[in-house]
Amino acid sequence: MAIYLDNASTAKPCKEAIESALRCMESVYGNPSSLHKPGLEAEEEINAARKAVSKALSVNPETVFFTSCATEANNTLVIGAWNKFHKRKRRVVISSVEHPSIEEPIKYIESLGAEVIRINPENNGQTFTEAIDDNTFLCSVMSVNNETGTNFPIKEIFANVKRKNPECITHTDAVQAFMKIPLKPLDIGADSVTISAHKIHGIKGAGALYIKKGLTIPPLLRGGGQERGFRSGTEAVPAIAAFGAAVKAHILDIDRMYEAAAAKMSGLRVRLSSLPFITINSPPDSSPFILNFSVDGVPSEVMLHFLESVGIYVSSGSACSKGKGSHVLKAFGITDKDADEAIRVSISNETTDEELEILTDSIIYGFNRLQRKR
Ligand code: PLP
Repeated sequence: MAIYLDNASTAKPCKEAIESALRCMESVYGNPSSLHKPGLEAEEEINAARKAVSKALSVNPETVFFTSCATEANNTLVIGAWNKFHKRKRRVVISSVEHPSIEEPIKYIESLGAEVIRINPENNGQTFTEAIDDNTFLCSVMSVNNETGTNFPIKEIFANVKRKNPECITHTDAVQAFMKIPLKPLDIGADSVTISAHKIHGIKGAGALYIKKGLTIPPLLRGGGQERGFRSGTEAVPAIAAFGAAVKAHILDIDRMYEAAAAKMSGLRVRLSSLPFITINSPPDSSPFILNFSVDGVPSEVMLHFLESVGIYVSSGSACSKGKGSHVLKAFGITDKDADEAIRVSISNETTDEELEILTDSIIYGFNRLQRKR
């Protein structure tokens, strides 16, 4: 029996997403740009998905652009904003714990001359505001951190940013928040928002970028002019249709899924906190879908592979850092030792209490077998 607890890396596709992708692959195989019937049918699939995603965000469908993944959406926004503004504005303000799909394009524009201010998460929202000046063209703060589940007060941060500099683009990478908490860009004051299909039980190959009406960002991919010229390249119809299907399947359930995750995760947190060799790294008010903790004396990868040997799949920090010491955990004030021993558990609505109890028992068993001799 496999116990999959790595949903922040990728979640198992739901049956609605699989059916939708299969249907498109078998019978809706036209190119959405073609003018004949198979083309129009493919275009309709994309329009339906766009309607579902935009409804979930409570925005106009024209403001949602499909991409191949969240990484592409974040790169498009960061590099596009730089290309638009760099002749007159050069400052960018971000959190120091952004996902690499923000941090790496930011490093790239830094190499081209951008002035980047990185704010540590322990600083309150006020520090973001202090860093914003007239020269700032972008403020990017993730909604929920992928390694610890930490929630950022983006509504408050963005309101203060806009008060100080209304032209500054407020962007949030909401990959770990979308379909987990109600997320309305207009409510939180986000000019642009990145989301990803495979984190919400869709399939890999689709992401999306919301860009508020009236804001133009130059495209990263230029070519045939798909996505109204914003993202050229033939659309991945099966993945986009599956994205829409996954959203539709769960949109009415967000509150219930959140409550269920909160109950399950608080049980796990209480059980793990009672063990003297466990340090919980996620703050108490973090997302209930992610829990990061360290097992004293057992390096992350050793515990990860031990759990794998008993059929439990977790992550060490984040999948994207592939075992590299996490600068993100350090920025959250977690010691080097705890960062080296960190395990991330991320649950879905399919995770059961029983699975989390088996996880706790296995960690106790693993700790007794594996702890480093000190
Ligand atoms: N942003 C965050 C916060 C993530 O957790 C991830 C994936 O882990 C991404 C972006 C990248 O998503 P994708 O795999 O769709 O490129």
